[in-house]
Amino acid sequence: MIDYQSVLNAINEAASKEKERGKIADYIPELAKVDVNNFGIHLIDNHQNNFFAGDSNELFSIQSISKVLTLSMALGLIGEDVWKRVDVEPSGDPFNHLSLLELENGIPRNPLINPGAIVIADILVSQLKNPKEDFLSFVRQIANDDTIDYDETVALSEKKTGFRNFAAANLLKSYKNLNNDVDAVLDFYFHQCSLSMNCEQLTHAFYMFMNHGKCRKNKAYLTLSQVKRINAIMLTCGFYDEAGEFAFEVGLPGKSGVGGGIVALLPNKFCVATWSPGLNPKGNSKLGMLALEKLTTETELSIF
Ligand code: GLN
Repeated sequence: MIDYQSVLNAINEAASKEKERGKIADYIPELAKVDVNNFGIHLIDNHQNNFFAGDSNELFSIQSISKVLTLSMALGLIGEDVWKRVDVEPSGDPFNHLSLLELENGIPRNPLINPGAIVIADILVSQLKNPKEDFLSFVRQIANDDTIDYDETVALSEKKTGFRNFAAANLLKSYKNLNNDVDAVLDFYFHQCSLSMNCEQLTHAFYMFMNHGKCRKNKAYLTLSQVKRINAIMLTCGFYDEAGEFAFEVGLPGKSGVGGGIVALLPNKFCVATWSPGLNPKGNSKLGMLALEKLTTETELSIF
């Protein structure tokens, strides 16, 4: 038996001593208000034992981590047709890069960079009766937690400053890869990014990716093949132009967000989430990456 709690305690201890904590994202003004000294980690194992340390119960803005959840819902709704509108190749570009500019066909490189996630948001806006409400209730169901909610202040803050996302959505529209109004799709996108969750809730929502598509209550939300695809995309595209570095240092499929969260998992073993709002120059949580590198090194557990 691995003593996960001792490992998490040691990680938390090391994080509290770290002086260089990275830089808070301030291009969404509301995110800039968060204290850089926060650090939390939560791990759930395959027997549903929970281990945690630090500020693991503090809510934060999950931002791009939501892209995995919208992709999951879209796959459940329209299946493999998703791949007609978005590709599955790593971009090697920052999350907000307008990678469409390089392409002739208006198909974003993958669903985890902003243009790809905006296409997925468009699919959900088309498919769902009440897109924001229905997506929220999907997240609450997979996490088995009805307290999860959007942060309207963060959503509004991003709406006011999301010029590059407006550019991406308009570009997609010009390529006819956006069926709904730009404003409606981005309103949905800014809300999904504003979801406010803590480390524990994130591991519960992502439990199904390490458990063959089944949530903690054993209900299946994804097929085996869909889980394989999503985990592969997380591994190759989950950290933008640092996906290679994350695979190299940590060796797990995962996803980061500019709110400073990272969630990662080892199929059949555990799901872990970290939160530390200071980011490295590539926009990934600085201490979160260090923590997960330590976790896979100390436990000698990774997909490799
Ligand atoms: N809402 C953010 C944006 O679109 C998400 C980016 C991120 O977390 N990497 O810019």
